[in-house]
Amino acid sequence: MLKRILVTGGAGFLGSHLCDVLVNQGHDVICLDNFFTSQKNNVTHLLGRTNFELIRHDVTLPIFLEVDQIYNLACPAAPGHYQYNPIKTMKTSVMGAINMLGLAKRCHARILQASTSEVYGDPEVHPQVESYRGSVNPIGPRACYDEGKRAAETLFVDYQRSNNVDVRIVRIFNTYGPRMHPFDGRVVSNFIRQALAGEDITIFGDGSQTRSFCYRDDLVAAIIGMMEQDGFHGPVNIGNPGEFTIAELAEKVIQISGSSSKLVYQPLPADDPTRRQPDISLAIKHLDWTPKIDLESGLKQTIDWFKTIKVEDYRPPTP
Ligand code: NAD
Ligand code: UDP
Repeated sequence: MLKRILVTGGAGFLGSHLCDVLVNQGHDVICLDNFFTSQKNNVTHLLGRTNFELIRHDVTLPIFLEVDQIYNLACPAAPGHYQYNPIKTMKTSVMGAINMLGLAKRCHARILQASTSEVYGDPEVHPQVESYRGSVNPIGPRACYDEGKRAAETLFVDYQRSNNVDVRIVRIFNTYGPRMHPFDGRVVSNFIRQALAGEDITIFGDGSQTRSFCYRDDLVAAIIGMMEQDGFHGPVNIGNPGEFTIAELAEKVIQISGSSSKLVYQPLPADDPTRRQPDISLAIKHLDWTPKIDLESGLKQTIDWFKTIKVEDYRPPTP
């Protein structure tokens, strides 16, 4: 059945791909964004579509709309972006959740929260299972994001318990692909931009820390699957369990792009998690989902996209 669907943060890296898929499925899609970390050109190709609307709005403020589903993605996601104005990051997570949950309650809409593997902090449990409560430094430089997302999860389950709002929570692990902001400071975008420009590739620490990288198409399929199924509210881990060291990632980017860039080593940022890998048993069980795209093919598609853009067209976060 076709629905009216609100996507907050819909002009961002993941939000714009989600809008693409939902618009192509025929739904009426409202993309809401304040363009803090995104470019309008992520969604300009959708502007002529009769089932797509774009609203410039900040989720920290209430909004009145009539919708059937809400995907709440609005929040800066890269460390450099969410640390730019940490108080605003926390407000976006917490007040954004309150405003969107209030909207969902009034409209009787189903609402999905884009949570994060960062709720596990620097994990002592490996791979991370949803029942693990995490190891987050509440006063560190990542806390505005991690604790904001944790508070948002609390709000989601309390709106469900107290007000019967039909919520879904997905904990997204590192996801990459076309439309990443080339200067967001995330490892995949940094390495690809550096490799294509022939610049040094900046490894923070000794490169032995690990991440598990999920391609954006797999991610979008999983979150739509979570929204569409009945009865399972999450939280559910969504990510690709393939685990790689940051040094291995650098080698792959160099090899696939045919770059002659050299590796340089810089200090590891504070509270940088040492290991990260999702246990996706719950996603397999409830969503019948597994990621299909391996790191090599995902990197190849992402590198091909980076070759088509002019990085100088991308601006830093704009308040
Ligand atoms: P992104 O920065 O490209 O997208 C976030 C979008 O939210 C941007 O378009 C930005 O302008 C918008 N936004 C930020 N603050 C806002 C506000 N106050 N009001 C309205 N819009 C606002 O990042 P992304 O990677 O696409 O992440 C999307 C969501 O997924 C985020 O909630 C993020 O926390 C979550 N997530 C992403 C990853 C990942 O690896 N990409 C991992 C875990 C969680
Ligand atoms: N990283 C790196 N070089 C870079 C950017 C990041 O070595 O140019 C490291 C970073 O320290 C972290 C990992 O890559 O250990 C992933 O960083 P990212 O910011 O992409 O995501 P997150 O730390 O939020 O998982």
